[in-house]
Amino acid sequence: MTVAVVLFTQDLRLHDNPALHAARTAADQVVPLFVTDPAISAAGFDAPNRRAFLAGCLTDLDASLRRAGSRLLHRRGDTAEQTARLAAEVDAVSVHVAAGVSGYARRREQRLRRALGDRLQVHDGSVTAVPPGAVTPAGRDHYAVFTPYHRAWQQVRRRTPLPAPRTLSTPDGPRGTAIGEARPNARRLPEAGESAARRAWQRWHTESYAQLHDDLAADGTSHLSPYLHFGCLSANELAHLAERREGPGAEAFVRQLVWRDFHHQVLAARPAAAHADYRTRHDRWRTDEAELAAWQQGRTGFPIIDAGMRQLAETGWMHNRARLLTASFLAKTLYLDWRLGARHFLAHLVDGDLANNQLNWQWVAGTGTDTRPNRVLNPLAQADRYDPDGAYVRRWVPELAELPGREIHRPWRAGRRPAGYPAPLVAPDAVAQRLREGREIDKNGSAKES
Ligand code: FAD
Repeated sequence: MTVAVVLFTQDLRLHDNPALHAARTAADQVVPLFVTDPAISAAGFDAPNRRAFLAGCLTDLDASLRRAGSRLLHRRGDTAEQTARLAAEVDAVSVHVAAGVSGYARRREQRLRRALGDRLQVHDGSVTAVPPGAVTPAGRDHYAVFTPYHRAWQQVRRRTPLPAPRTLSTPDGPRGTAIGEARPNARRLPEAGESAARRAWQRWHTESYAQLHDDLAADGTSHLSPYLHFGCLSANELAHLAERREGPGAEAFVRQLVWRDFHHQVLAARPAAAHADYRTRHDRWRTDEAELAAWQQGRTGFPIIDAGMRQLAETGWMHNRARLLTASFLAKTLYLDWRLGARHFLAHLVDGDLANNQLNWQWVAGTGTDTRPNRVLNPLAQADRYDPDGAYVRRWVPELAELPGREIHRPWRAGRRPAGYPAPLVAPDAVAQRLREGREIDKNGSAKES
């Protein structure tokens, strides 16, 4: 009997899983492994919401593997050491893992390679729909601009999604440790794991996505981001499934998956973009602990910003439009370092993802891939546009609920300030002056270059 090990990382699923599929083809028996590595906590990356969600994903993966006749072996320690030890225990002919994009994932691969030599097989196209580097512009190792990347992405022949294995055979011998539970700091998290992810996709309708995806109160986006982050759903399979649904909603949804691939190929080529400016503009960020704390706590006095920050604290998730507005407020209006904001997001987001978070923050801060780095989002104009009757703010900032219609976006105009709600951190008519020198807000709420 030959045995192969499959090391699960950001691919916690049975469907369309190239590493699992290859392990099953390579040997008579498969040992599915997940290693909880203290290096992730040391890097400050295992925030309570994601730790709790991950535990649920692993429990669900174990249950699905058991239904197929196998089980998930969970171990704690250094990933390369634990994997090599298991490979020796079961005399594995090969070890299979999905290719990752972060610097951490790259180093992990190198260490696995040193420990396992040729027995290690790294599988592309598992974390993203199109693998980083599969399309590149002439003379460069990655695309720095989204639109040409999108065009090139559409020309790629993507692999046909792989079915989930119906049966798996696993040797009795090797033992693991309990997955354990973790306490989130959000009030309620979405149900974790591949089974819930597939139900969520089935439940969600793409039809109105094109019209509604920016409407804050309608909350019409898929909420699939945590499942994509942990690989409970394959981006490749999801793109195929969405394309079958057709229509402008499905097209708009696939475009967002392309944004995801875009940021991943940037990070894969420039791992330092996780902490350093991708394109520095020599910002000299201000330091203001009180302003940072007010932003983090949802007490800036700008209702649309506070609503987003409170949605994040309470649910571990935030609507994309609110992420754009809150990030722009921190980096462009308060002119505080984008890294402070990105760190706070990563401490709370259940979908917190190095590629998507850091590169979206850089996009907003003007240090990333935006072709208009001076773009500034005016919180008031944006609130009028994307929360026209104030329903989103009313949901998350209850102390303002009495203010009618869009008046809720300007509580300073009310006869007396609503009890318990702070005065604006920046005088509303001085928002523009607080912007970085050389930037100016136009009437529509986006910036023009001065
Ligand atoms: P949908 O609109 O249904 O989109 C479907 C999927 O496409 C998402 O699940 C996501 O995987 C991908 N996607 C959508 N928008 C983007 C985008 N702008 N960039 C990359 N991928 C995208 N997304 C994360 O997954 N993790 C993060 O840590 C993260 N941090 C962000 C920080 C900032 C400052 C901003 C502006 C955006 C961030 N995003 C992040 C992108 C986006 O806000 C979320 O992916 C989206 O809100 C998740 O909701 P959804 O699944 O309902 O999205």
